[in-house]
Amino acid sequence: MIRHQPPLARADLEARIDARAPAWRAEAAKRTATFLTAGRFAEPNGSIWSDIKPVYMQLQYNKCIYCERVLGAELTGKAEHDVEHFRPKGQVKTWPYASRKPSVSYDFPTGTPNKTGYYWLAYDIENYACSCKGCNSDRKRDYFPILGPRAAAPTDIVSLNKAEQPLLLFPSGTIGDDPARFITFLGVVAQVHPAAKGVDRLRAQVTIDFFSLNDREELLADRARVIRELASKMRQLQDKDPAWRAAAQQDLEQILSDASPQAACARAYAELVKTDVQKAWEIYQDVQRYLSPGPRRPR
Ligand SMILES: [Zn+2]
Repeated sequence: MIRHQPPLARADLEARIDARAPAWRAEAAKRTATFLTAGRFAEPNGSIWSDIKPVYMQLQYNKCIYCERVLGAELTGKAEHDVEHFRPKGQVKTWPYASRKPSVSYDFPTGTPNKTGYYWLAYDIENYACSCKGCNSDRKRDYFPILGPRAAAPTDIVSLNKAEQPLLLFPSGTIGDDPARFITFLGVVAQVHPAAKGVDRLRAQVTIDFFSLNDREELLADRARVIRELASKMRQLQDKDPAWRAAAQQDLEQILSDASPQAACARAYAELVKTDVQKAWEIYQDVQRYLSPGPRRPR
């Protein structure tokens, strides 16, 4: 998961949207008023949220907000990025559902379904992020698991978050979660952060399960490549030639920056190298095997 480029104030987000599409916010407010009167989401003339998609793509360094996969930039990436509504605009379905693979079940509530969704948030700029089709079209769809009771229109997002206790993390907008507090990695495997307790712990686990963060081969391979490169650069830091050491330092800063693929995984591995070099070496050997012909899944 990648957090929007911090610090992002509400006025900053609005200014970015106005710069991209000056009339967008006024039109969005008009449409929202129509939905509130109708009591449902209905868009006979087509939606306009894609007009501001590049704003979110840039804030996310053209990465998927949920899985950190790098997608295309504006020229080609608009087709790869979905504008994801965190709270579904048209309906909410039950999650987890019986036929889900891999299956999950919990001993806590995950919210009731409804037929109208969060129609009043269809054009709320805090309800948007960009995500890949694997995360949005295949998984997120009309699901929105919550621990508390499902709230009604026209509750604002801050109040909704308090009342409903969303079980998915949402690191977007100006009031989003910081995923680093909830999820860490051991090698290529996403894990609940040891510091996450109580509801935070549930949110981290549900998010990992919901987006299949440990079951998607493309994500495991991305993380394995990042670890391999990182390990090589950390080794290069010990080179006797200061020019090589300086180059390695520069590369490392880039690999660990928000803009790089699977940055959260990279940071966790860099930390592990400092605290448990033996474990870091074992993981490096695992990813090397995994990336060799005839892949073996690292665990
Ligand atoms: Zn994704």
